[in-house]
Amino acid sequence: MSDDRRRLVGHEDGTHPDWEPVIGLEMHVELDTQTKMFCGCAVTRGDDPNLHTCPVCLAHPGALPVVNRRAVEYAARIALALNCTVRPRSVFHRKNYFYPDLPKAYQISQYDEPLATAGWFDYWVDGERLRCRINRVHMEEDAAKLIHAGGETGRIAGSDYSMVDFNRSGTPLIEIVTEPDIPSPEAAREFLQQLRATVMELGVSECTMEEGQVRWDANMSVRPAGSDALGTRTELKNMNSFRYLQQALDAEIPRQIALLEAGETIEQETLHFDPDTGITTPLRSKEEAHDYRYFPDPDLVPLEIDPAWVEELRATQPELPAARVERFMRQYGLSRADASVLAPTGALAGFYEEVVAAGAAAKAAANWTMGEYLAHLNAAGLEVGHGHVTAERLARLVMLVEDGTVSTSAAKEVFARMIEERAEPGEVVERHGLGQISDSAELEAIVAEVVAASPSQVEQYRGGKQQVLGFFVGRVMKATGGRANPQLVNELLRRTLDA
Ligand code: ADP
Ligand code: ZN
Ligand code: MG
Repeated sequence: MSDDRRRLVGHEDGTHPDWEPVIGLEMHVELDTQTKMFCGCAVTRGDDPNLHTCPVCLAHPGALPVVNRRAVEYAARIALALNCTVRPRSVFHRKNYFYPDLPKAYQISQYDEPLATAGWFDYWVDGERLRCRINRVHMEEDAAKLIHAGGETGRIAGSDYSMVDFNRSGTPLIEIVTEPDIPSPEAAREFLQQLRATVMELGVSECTMEEGQVRWDANMSVRPAGSDALGTRTELKNMNSFRYLQQALDAEIPRQIALLEAGETIEQETLHFDPDTGITTPLRSKEEAHDYRYFPDPDLVPLEIDPAWVEELRATQPELPAARVERFMRQYGLSRADASVLAPTGALAGFYEEVVAAGAAAKAAANWTMGEYLAHLNAAGLEVGHGHVTAERLARLVMLVEDGTVSTSAAKEVFARMIEERAEPGEVVERHGLGQISDSAELEAIVAEVVAASPSQVEQYRGGKQQVLGFFVGRVMKATGGRANPQLVNELLRRTLDA
């Protein structure tokens, strides 16, 4: 952070004594239904362009849209996960605009009668629970995809021409709109990450970020600290990187504070964030704001939802990440920090629970899963559950440590060899002689050698410098390849040195 920036922000940690940021987010999620929102075309990713089209999603005159029931179910599941009320009646509107990627020249969306309203989502920032109210969850259709090509002459933003891939046109899209409740850039990032994990857990979208299956707009303003009023906001649209979002907000908030402190006003406008310069610049202002001339789509009847069906959905919701974090803390006695690593995604949580079910102690199982196991997956580029150590084998290793067969440090080597040799921990210990040395006679001899080899340290110890004991323990461990029983080593060393 430059000195200039720091002065504007106020405190080192990014907070300001006189001003507080206010952030509201809109998140778009493409649903993983088999077919599109209003036609039977397949929803696909990565296919050759324009394979999945029909008169409806190409906007041929007279083609009639029909609502995809599965998309409504997925949307309702998202709404329920956000504690919203799913309304018994909602209406599809036409949002009129010139879209280069929507040949109807309108998008079917929802407006003043959305699918669901008035919910909330609890999320964690630095160990503190925050609540963000959810304004609404509504359904719409995604546009086609523009592919900018060429670039020799750079006529169109660095490209010569653009092509349209209609495979994406009409993909079910959900918009989640929050109230302006989010107090900092960091909170905004946490909110989105935790919300994304929740949507993924519902199994309604893979939420891949690279392809923009999930993307968001951020609205932000600042106001005098402690005030309830809302300041004029600016907006950053269509972001799909958590890091850029936080960087953009970190840049925009001091910019607004500086303007207000100079007695100027904030323009309500859409901004562009350039990650290379870290600067936000205006893209379009409010004067150019669109009048979408919303009106109810005459081709679609209002969507009527049976409350009993909503209750069925509610009863069959999966366990969501936030609830699982709480359960892991309760059931396994884990800290929030550990539970927040293990519980949020279903695959890792499932693996951990298998390790415990196979007999490992909960805390040790957590350490091994978060430590060695994740490191192994990272190094090998593998998905959870596809590593070269099964939950059962990891559990057996943890148990060997617990019952003293293997020392903690030797266990790391056992783990590495279990992967290399695709073997059971017991086999590895036997084959490579990695068992813990708990035999006093054998250790006594090594202790005696180590003590004899370092007379000056012996002197220091006997002169009252107790911490030198660690030096000797280290020497014994080294001599035994980390296999010595540490408790026994301590005991024997003290006995020898205190004699
Ligand atoms: P629009 O119709 O322009 O999309 P909305 O009222 O739907 O505006 O609000 C869009 C988003 O902006 C919401 O997430 C909302 O919480 C947020 N928002 C509205 N006003 C402010 C403000 N003054 N500061 C920060 N965020 C705001
Ligand atoms: Zn179609
Ligand atoms: Mg909006």
